Amino acid sequence: MIVQDISYPYEFDEEKRKKAKLYSKQKFYTGIFQGVILYLLFLLLFYFTGFSYHMEMWVEQLVSDTVLANRWIVSAFFVVVFSSLIYLISLPVSYYSSFVLEHRYDLSNESLDDWARDQLKSFSISLVIMVPIILGLFFLGYNFPDLWWLYAGIILFVISGILSNVSHLVILPLFYDLEELEDEGLEERLVEIAEEHGVAELEKVVVIKAGEKTEKANAGFAGMGKTKRLMLFDTLLEKFHPKEIESVVAHEMGHYVNKDTIRFMTISALLIFPIFYVTGVIFTRYADFQDIYHLPLFLLILYGLYSIIDPLTNAYSRHREKKADDFANRVINDPEAAVSTFKRLSDIDLAETDPSRIIEIFFYSHPSPKKRIKRAKAYSKKRR
Ligand SMILES: [Zn+2]
Repeated sequence: MIVQDISYPYEFDEEKRKKAKLYSKQKFYTGIFQGVILYLLFLLLFYFTGFSYHMEMWVEQLVSDTVLANRWIVSAFFVVVFSSLIYLISLPVSYYSSFVLEHRYDLSNESLDDWARDQLKSFSISLVIMVPIILGLFFLGYNFPDLWWLYAGIILFVISGILSNVSHLVILPLFYDLEELEDEGLEERLVEIAEEHGVAELEKVVVIKAGEKTEKANAGFAGMGKTKRLMLFDTLLEKFHPKEIESVVAHEMGHYVNKDTIRFMTISALLIFPIFYVTGVIFTRYADFQDIYHLPLFLLILYGLYSIIDPLTNAYSRHREKKADDFANRVINDPEAAVSTFKRLSDIDLAETDPSRIIEIFFYSHPSPKKRIKRAKAYSKKRR
């Protein structure tokens, strides 16, 4: 690998800071428009104008007198058409947010062809995963009106456990080329840090060739047990100083050592039962699991309940991120490297370093870069 001259320690670039403010604002409003306004509006209109009902009737008519005239096949058709509609309606916004904006701010290296191919892939994958889940929910609700939430919660817990263990082996390679880390010196150092700090048998460090698509950098542990590996974006390796790479990896190790994956899985498992239960209570007051056309109502209730809980799970996530930072600060014991990492990462990703409190509460899964920098500096003071 060619190591370019990388200035170190990194200082904020004023030009990038200005761009970051604009970029994150535009991304934020686009996200709200797509994920909240457009989505809710679609569900409300689709359901309450009777469109949903007519669509189920239409599918039923289409397959009547054929071998497909079966409740669950009709439901499957419905879910596919319904998901495709949502997807198509939000496609222009996706295009603007993940293609136009990314190019406008020089963050993307992807051609329109590649972008479209990725969109199609992720839509197909989401269909393959979501259609059986939605059908399963309605099937359980229909057959086990009292305990469907319990069965559904258990099944979803198992599915998400499997997905988190295999998605980096099965889904990730559909989007990125992967290769093993060639830089032996770095690999040795990373494995050494890992072993020193309780990450047993870190056998594989995988490089994700993300640079073909994006300028942004990332890293993380994926999988558990035999599927466990450390994943690094090639952009991280190319643009960051070795000390900063170590600092990023140490943070990820913090998550690993602190068993954050298991913590988050436990929490989402504990939340899913009451959320499904309450959704069922509200849902069955106005509708039933007999007809799939009630799906938008079910999703609206679920969406509402998760919106109430999101700030809490975000707060917990920020707390765990803080703990992972503390771990990294302790292990690397080089505040200058930590501060330099946060500054460079913020500039490369054009991240807002100091969001308003309210936005942080609702949307930030990580503490703001400003807070992380402050904490790293405070750690160095504590040490003296
Ligand atoms: Zn983290």
